Amino acid sequence: MAEPTASALLHRACQALTGQSDSPRLDAEILLQAACGIDRTTFACDPEKAISSTQARQLLTLVERRRTGEPIAYILGHKEFWSLDLALSQDTLVPRPETEILVQAVLDATPADSPVDIADLGTGSGAIALALASERPLARIVATDSSRRALAQASNNAMRLNLEVTFELGDWLVPLQGQVFDIIVSNPPYVCEGDPALERGPSLFEPPEALFSGPDGLSAIRQICAGASDCLKPGGMLALEHGHDQRSALDELLLGASLGSIAHFNDYAGQARVSTARRVAHSNH
Ligand code: SAM
Ligand code: GLN
Repeated sequence: MAEPTASALLHRACQALTGQSDSPRLDAEILLQAACGIDRTTFACDPEKAISSTQARQLLTLVERRRTGEPIAYILGHKEFWSLDLALSQDTLVPRPETEILVQAVLDATPADSPVDIADLGTGSGAIALALASERPLARIVATDSSRRALAQASNNAMRLNLEVTFELGDWLVPLQGQVFDIIVSNPPYVCEGDPALERGPSLFEPPEALFSGPDGLSAIRQICAGASDCLKPGGMLALEHGHDQRSALDELLLGASLGSIAHFNDYAGQARVSTARRVAHSNH
């Protein structure tokens, strides 16, 4: 049997993904490159290039995984975040674009010329801690997660990217007791348990403990707020990502935890998804 051509395979992949993915053509192109080494330019120059049957089978296996809804990032085993290429597996959340808003909010509050102390809670793949390390080489950054496997992934990423972050296993601030920080940052799980919006799509493949946090989605945020003041220097900042409908509940939690100067940052849809607050300088913790 004649070997299939790149264009015939791309067409077949695209058809298989239509209705299953929001971006069938783009996904098919990415998977063609992953399985057969044919990028867009190569394809444009020689669309009728013959593909070996082994590579064609590999492509169809990847397409099948994508058809079930598995995120491209897990299929490829990596994802770009803040222009860093992060290795990924199903042990960690796929870093989201809105988390870059959180990184930017922290950078805007972090001087580049002094050794600030930063803690990233629930670091997952290490996305936030590593983005901050890449932008603020003088910062001392420590990152925690309760998942041993996530921490292994994060420290592997730190090594690959040659960035310095200390990793600690444990619940939120617990492994950091006795230390104080200029900035505590976290993208904790904040989805309400049983949220029907997540019964489909990429989240089905992600670790539930990275997404869900009690009936109102606020359990982790409550714990982090309650402990933050004790671990912040006076005037130090807590920066959190949260759900679009959690802003006012979060404001109450922050104020109740001696944190003030609250600021909100909107996502590209105009909804508040990141909030920052500072430890009130005269609070006697
Ligand atoms: N920071 C990464 C990012 O932004 O892509 C991952 C964020 S993910 C939404 C939340 C992370 O919190 C997961 O890696 C999960 O393992 C971790 N986590 C869940 N419960 C935790 C706990 N009690 N203490 C510390 N980390 C926890
Ligand atoms: N933004 C993610 C989602 O809705 C949730 C991430 C999180 O809980 N931190 O799928």
